[in-house]
Amino acid sequence: MAGNGERRRHTSGAGRLLELVRTGAADTRVTLTRASGLARATVNDRLDLLLEAGLLSPNGAAASTGGRRAASFAFNEGSGVVYVADLGATHAVLAICDLGAHVIADERHAIDITAGPDVNLALVRDRLPDLLAAAGRTEADVVAATIGVPGPVQSSPPRVVSPPIMTGWDDVVVPEALALPLAVPVLVGNDVNLMALGEHRACFADHEHIIVVKVGTGVGSGIIVARSLHQGAEGAAGDIGHIPVPGIEELCVCGKVGCVEAKAGGWAIARDLRALGHGVSGTADVVTLVKRRDPDAIRLVNEGARMLGVAIADAVNVLNPSTVVLGGEIALAHEHLLAHVREVVYTRSLPLATRSLNVVVSTLGDRSGVLGGAYLAIEHRLAPDALDRELDRRLAGDAALNAWA
Ligand SMILES: [Zn+2]
Repeated sequence: MAGNGERRRHTSGAGRLLELVRTGAADTRVTLTRASGLARATVNDRLDLLLEAGLLSPNGAAASTGGRRAASFAFNEGSGVVYVADLGATHAVLAICDLGAHVIADERHAIDITAGPDVNLALVRDRLPDLLAAAGRTEADVVAATIGVPGPVQSSPPRVVSPPIMTGWDDVVVPEALALPLAVPVLVGNDVNLMALGEHRACFADHEHIIVVKVGTGVGSGIIVARSLHQGAEGAAGDIGHIPVPGIEELCVCGKVGCVEAKAGGWAIARDLRALGHGVSGTADVVTLVKRRDPDAIRLVNEGARMLGVAIADAVNVLNPSTVVLGGEIALAHEHLLAHVREVVYTRSLPLATRSLNVVVSTLGDRSGVLGGAYLAIEHRLAPDALDRELDRRLAGDAALNAWA
């Protein structure tokens, strides 16, 4: 390009314009100019660049008015895909999502996270390319990958730290261990944090602050503050399963006595059901009994829900969210769990904190983690500065302007 005397194109501001279109904040030349604060000529130039890169499409009637330039634009969600693997303690969801975080292919596997990183990451590495082919896409379309794990994660480099239920994973740097044969960024997130991001972006995007509580084998929460994930200094924020609640005397998996998880977690309910003579081994068996309306199972889940309400009330008092979303297998299996949690939360929280508080059950089911993983990857790759740099790289190199690889 430099050799033929052509002036090198600038990309600065393109990422900001794409973000405005992608988030629905603006979609016409006029509104984009106003919202971005960029000069009109700059807006026109960057919009041309985004059209050539395939990230924007001309929209609606304006696109078909002969030789005239398009007046409005849409984000081309099909212009790339992300790999997502949401690994839980006993099951995994693998998915290919487009850049609008729509799932285009997915599959579920029974796994054992304690089998360690080698076995579990080999499954991810082997299955994602097949899933990509099933989605009708190629490796050139993949822009990033997210791996969700059921334990605490620290960033740079993304490593699993002191995971209570992930035997063999301590200190594992996931992108290295995964070793994808593909040069794309690999992001790593805690499974509950990914759930929170998925719930927020897909269902509560107009809320500033929400808490998402997972009631599965364990109990945890993901916190969205000012529309961003709040992970804390050590990546341990939101670990409400280990809040002590008066009246609980059982030993917890963390080694302490009295944690809410030691009463409300799937493993604890299974323990109490075994003590009553039921042949249950884990959370899946608890869910089966709850769905059969077994009186012991229902009573224990309800008791756990009331204890959970105490812990959630503490979190509500500290964080003052507008919404608390309950997810996880146990919350999804038992419709009355919500009523018990709600009653305790409203009774125990400060009146000002509950004045406009909603406590609801997830409508995304087991897809919230996958969607959160997709959003994490998409937002990383399409962040305004990152996208400007990516377009710079494409203009400087031999790669086609519309190629991610
Ligand atoms: Zn504990």
